[in-house]
Amino acid sequence: MHTRLKVALPLLFILIALLLILPTQANASVSNTGQTTANLNIRAAPSTDAAIIGKFPAGTQFQYIDRGDGWGQITIQSQTGYLSLDYVTAAKKETAAPAPAESSSGQPVHRIVIDPGHGGKDPGAIGNDTMEKWVALTISEKLQRRLLANGYDVKMTRSEDVFIPLPERATLSNNWKADLFVSVHANSATSSSAKGLESYYYGASSSGKQLASSIQTALVANTNNENRGTHSADFYVLRHTSMPAVLVETGFISNPADAVLLNDEGYQDKVASSIAEGIKDYAS
Ligand SMILES: [Zn+2]
Repeated sequence: MHTRLKVALPLLFILIALLLILPTQANASVSNTGQTTANLNIRAAPSTDAAIIGKFPAGTQFQYIDRGDGWGQITIQSQTGYLSLDYVTAAKKETAAPAPAESSSGQPVHRIVIDPGHGGKDPGAIGNDTMEKWVALTISEKLQRRLLANGYDVKMTRSEDVFIPLPERATLSNNWKADLFVSVHANSATSSSAKGLESYYYGASSSGKQLASSIQTALVANTNNENRGTHSADFYVLRHTSMPAVLVETGFISNPADAVLLNDEGYQDKVASSIAEGIKDYAS
């Protein structure tokens, strides 16, 4: 299913629920929706001599009964009030506010930063004759080829075995105004039995979560490796990048079976094509 549809359906249900609830809350005889053109006094009776019981700032939208004498009757906090209709116009049709989740994932995706984890003096995880920095770079290069073939503009934070500090990786992505950021890593645990795939996003980022979920789904489906799920995490490159950002843990260096996979070109290809597939699903 397309990401947009997944977002649109729940919203549609909320809208329908609201439409069902609203008329029962409003007074059945209220038929007009107005908008104040000036700061407007609410009075206790339909007369400019009557006591002022409240105020609507200019631009307030409200529902009222047109009494036919130039005064509108409203109910405010179970109290009846009156407004001069001289300062009321028909309310502007409310334009549907774009749903935040939709606008974030609905942003066109052109530029993608691939961030191969670690490098140079920082090898990342080491185990089972495998170094994370090399796994990350190899998978990232494969991912780069696929994303370029899919028509995206791609930048790598490193294309060789060099040390790039984390702030530089985030700054490069922000300055380039990337639409997506994908960091590629391999995992490590004290227990050698831990294995499988994980995707991380930052904090409560709904677009990051969607991207992580799209990538994770494709990874698990295509590799059959263990699904350790998507998680929110406070990783530097996720926190300091201003676009939807995901960090993918492609397997456990510390697990013998995963280490074999991480060194296997077939598995590396599947991981790369799965990340590309997840990005495509997210962006379409
Ligand atoms: Zn790492």
